[in-house]
Amino acid sequence: MGKLDGKTALVTGASRGIGRATAQRLAEEGALVAVHYASNDEAAAETVALIEKDGGRAFAVRAELGVPGDVHELFLGLERGLRERTGATTLDIVVNNAAAQTAAGLAPEDVTPEDFDRLMAVNAKAPFFIVQRASSSLADGGRIINISSGVTRVANPEQLAYSMSKGALEQLSLHMARHLAARRITVNTVAPGITDNGSPVFDIPEAVEAMSQLSAFKQVAKADDVANVVAFLATEDARWITGAFIDASGGTLLG
Ligand code: NDP
Repeated sequence: MGKLDGKTALVTGASRGIGRATAQRLAEEGALVAVHYASNDEAAAETVALIEKDGGRAFAVRAELGVPGDVHELFLGLERGLRERTGATTLDIVVNNAAAQTAAGLAPEDVTPEDFDRLMAVNAKAPFFIVQRASSSLADGGRIINISSGVTRVANPEQLAYSMSKGALEQLSLHMARHLAARRITVNTVAPGITDNGSPVFDIPEAVEAMSQLSAFKQVAKADDVANVVAFLATEDARWITGAFIDASGGTLLG
């Protein structure tokens, strides 16, 4: 018996990387998982197939975040999928994982208003309105987990705008934790460090070696190193943790 049997979950950005690993872990514990993504139909279908191969239940929901009508579009697909499979639209777990990134090496002087607006729209505004929309259908005792980044705790000028968007996301956890506590809904932030998300840079040994040095364990994380932390927060065992910033960076923030 899984720790999330009978639960339903939405994981945004679950077609690849940490989101995929999280969707797999939640499904492994018994949750029915909505695998949200922006445009990569093939990758999302692969996440669903991997979950089903392991005996889990999942369905894909396509909706680009950061554009007008994004959250409405997401909830249309989400609620249709839930209703078809459970006869209701109740949601137990929301993982705000999808994010926009900036190109590496972008100096503060070079950030355009369009870059800034995009980061804020995808990384802060969309999660805010997802939580606002979800809160009416979230079951008492539900879970909201927001995926930030260790970069909100160390100065990195080349990621300033991205870090600002993640800082805003962390505020969502803090204040909503207080707001939803009466319903025993917990709201937490998980902050990964450098994590292999399958992108080509992780195939370059010299790059991986350099990135590894940032973690106290001298390794880059695997996606499931982070997914395991998220899955724990989703369980009943984590009921006494809310409003927390969970450092899942493998000790990167130890300096
Ligand atoms: P990936 O880049 O591997 O995957 C991104 C996912 O988000 C995909 O599913 C993608 O969908 C979806 N997505 C991206 N933009 C949008 C959008 N505008 N609308 C809807 N969906 C979107 O992500 P990671 O696994 O690297 O990162 C996951 C989370 O962890 C993010 O919040 C990131 O900021 C954070 N993080 C990651 C670190 C790392 O080293 N990997 C380090 C610190 C934090 P599609 O496949 O359709 O494009």
